[in-house]
Amino acid sequence: MMAQYLEIKQRYPDALLFYRMGDFYELFFQDAEAAAAALDIALTKRGKHLGQDIAMCGVPHHSAEGYLLTLIRKGFRVAICEQLESPAEAKKRGSKSVVKRDVVRLVTPGTLTEDSLLQARAHNYLAAWCTVRDEAALAWADVSTGDVTVTPASAVTLAPLLARVAPSELLVADTAEPDLRETGTQMGVTLTARPASAFDSAASAERIASLYRVDSPDAFGSFTRAQLGALGALIDYLDLTQRGKLPLLRPPVLERAGGIMQIDAATRANLELTRSLSGKREGALLSAIDRTVTGPGARLLEARLTSPSTDLAQIGARLDAVTAFVEDPGLASDLREMLRKTPDMERALSRIGLGRGGPRDLAALRTGLARAEDIAARMPDTCHTVAIREAYADLTGHEALLAHLEAALVAEPPLLARDGGMIAPGYDPELDDTRRLRDEGRGVIAGLQAEYARRADVNSLKIKHNNVLGYFIETPATHAAKMMAPPLSEVFIHRQTTANQVRFTTLELSELETRILNAGGHALELEKRIFDRLCAEVLDNAPRIATTARALAALDLFTSLSDLAIQENWTRPRIDDTRAFHITGGRHPVVEQALRRSGAAFVANDCDLTADGTDARPVWLLTGPNMAGKSTFLRQNALIALLAQAGCYVPADEAHIGIVDQLFSRVGAADDLARGRSTFMVEMVETAAILNQAGRNALVILDEIGRGTATYDGLSIAWATLEHLHDVNRCRTLFATHYHELTALAEKLAGLRNATVAVREWEGEVVFLHEVREGAADRSYGVQVARLAGLPDAVIARARTVLEALEEGDRGQGGKAKALVDDLPLFSAAPAPMPVREKPSPALERLRAVLPDELTPREALELIYELKAMD
Ligand code: ADP
Repeated sequence: MMAQYLEIKQRYPDALLFYRMGDFYELFFQDAEAAAAALDIALTKRGKHLGQDIAMCGVPHHSAEGYLLTLIRKGFRVAICEQLESPAEAKKRGSKSVVKRDVVRLVTPGTLTEDSLLQARAHNYLAAWCTVRDEAALAWADVSTGDVTVTPASAVTLAPLLARVAPSELLVADTAEPDLRETGTQMGVTLTARPASAFDSAASAERIASLYRVDSPDAFGSFTRAQLGALGALIDYLDLTQRGKLPLLRPPVLERAGGIMQIDAATRANLELTRSLSGKREGALLSAIDRTVTGPGARLLEARLTSPSTDLAQIGARLDAVTAFVEDPGLASDLREMLRKTPDMERALSRIGLGRGGPRDLAALRTGLARAEDIAARMPDTCHTVAIREAYADLTGHEALLAHLEAALVAEPPLLARDGGMIAPGYDPELDDTRRLRDEGRGVIAGLQAEYARRADVNSLKIKHNNVLGYFIETPATHAAKMMAPPLSEVFIHRQTTANQVRFTTLELSELETRILNAGGHALELEKRIFDRLCAEVLDNAPRIATTARALAALDLFTSLSDLAIQENWTRPRIDDTRAFHITGGRHPVVEQALRRSGAAFVANDCDLTADGTDARPVWLLTGPNMAGKSTFLRQNALIALLAQAGCYVPADEAHIGIVDQLFSRVGAADDLARGRSTFMVEMVETAAILNQAGRNALVILDEIGRGTATYDGLSIAWATLEHLHDVNRCRTLFATHYHELTALAEKLAGLRNATVAVREWEGEVVFLHEVREGAADRSYGVQVARLAGLPDAVIARARTVLEALEEGDRGQGGKAKALVDDLPLFSAAPAPMPVREKPSPALERLRAVLPDELTPREALELIYELKAMD
């Protein structure tokens, strides 16, 4: 057995090998050590290999999924090795034969299909990155739903693309640049290196053609070599992990370059699209707007929100569909009611496709397809909206399959087909007969027990069943002598004596047993056969079922967005190919909802960054104290643009937006400790990306640029950045700053408008009005805000004095800091004494003795060595 284990294991060096032994998956050697630590289970020993103890641990087969989930989350891959025959079959081949085993599946983060391993409302993508000379592509697939997409890319767009798609696993060629791997790792994706041959475009074209049974991939569009390579690598890897059983993949969708609003990773994070800055789903835009009632609907919403379109016609069609439901809320709410009870057909179908489906997956399709028919029946006769009409058209046409599923399956089928019990009575006459025989047999046994008890005159005589003896008769040992003597011994044949019982059989009982067993086994076989036939029928209809599932998801999405629009009082944006950006009464969707929960109202604000026209002012410079609402205003305008192009209504009274093709945001500052960059460095890297990339149709929001460095440095950088955006990038820009000096630029830059978030001062306190107005802030109210934050009164009073003196100094002739230190009264509270060091360090003493100006470079170097030696 160990020889077999080692042979299989050497084929899967990068995976933990789950080696099936009876009811357990066992792990050995380092696998066992790693798994025991990761799963917190006991590590034991079993036998010796090359004189060493073999470490071992195991998980029960029936609860393996939970353990798998933990291992996958912790970044492991798991190879599932099953027994391919029963021990009895192995024995037939020879008394010493080991049961045949092999890996049936490699479980990796990007190739999961089980509901328990997946999040119902989120996609799980496997992606592949391919470069062919200076051309690159990213392809991604969700094995659990069959979606496949491929997009042109470049080394620069890899990070933004990974941020958008958020795959759980990325395939790269083992020859790939280290940079590429680093980007993947930084984005938190599990990287899997594959041989360069897996990405070969000619081989890929063949793989694609054979998977989809077409002559060539041209059937789906014209793909570049890199695109083919990326798609081919996906298929190759699925073939490897699913051990030759390819999932039901839909034809690949080729994204057009520029068809999607470009949003880089930092912008996504800053705008908290799918996750808040703290990494949670709640508090993010997605969870604030998600009213979908099905898993597929939720996944579609996430896909739309993470990839807003730049295609006017497409956006228009999607908005039309939302509008149709806004105008007919009764219809929308009826549909939502029906959708709510619709199971996840996409995932059920994918499991059936991989031969991993159970009776409940068939039941999910039965319910889902029936719901689809109900929804189609609720459809009004006339519908002018193309997107809805198309969705409706895709709902029906499953009559035959549906009829079969409804007739064949019991109402609530069991989880596993293995134990039977899923096929309804009355569906198949042969199955009904066999079952009758099996069940009657059980009745006959009960009769037989009564008869034997009477005949032997032993009331406590029972007929029982176990796996070793099959059916047997059991009496207490006290009756043994009577039972084993004539005349009873002529009927009862002794089988076994235990401590308290004696066990017998009879000819009649063994015959009956054979009949029951045969009938039971036969019934199970018939059920399995019917089950397989139904699965095959489902697979014949797979493309159509997938289309229906997709149509249901679209209806869920449209009705949920109309529900949101009505509930939240949102409006339909006007979108065109101008460079307009005119929002009236705009709100921040997440902040507004949060404020509402605490009983406060959100103050709506206008924004006009329209870049066309003679007196256009596409750049707004926003000043105002901290906490006034600058960041909120900046983000809300970015979110409105994004929502609009994702096909949603927007939180505003009116919105007119010319297509935004790039969205950039640099908001707030967070240290990127993981990458060892300071706040300032991160800020500059991101700002550089914006200045280098933002084109005419971009929308840029910048918050507090230059805060991370000394005042004059920061001011100068902010100044130059603003000028560059205005003169060179010439895109629609919102720029918030605490450098009031910048407001003077409005006189010089024609396209710049000063705006401020109004506050009122009242009895020394600052009151935030959250109103954005034209003009510049007069002061920053930092001290007042600090007071609101709860700084001790003594510190506040001291800060006020310092501030007054500084302002005084500003007006005077400088030297202010010096004057301050000399003139201002000290704190009343004495500061804590500094710890005094008894004896200065020798290094310090040596340094004190040095006259730097008199050292030659060589002496300086020697001094450093000397100091180092003192350490
Ligand atoms: P700043 O960027 O100016 O420091 P923020 O945008 O972070 O300020 O806003 C601070 C707080 O003010 C927010 O958390 C929110 O509660 C509140 N706020 C911001 N904008 C508004 C608004 N338009 N209406 C009501 N409250 C607002």
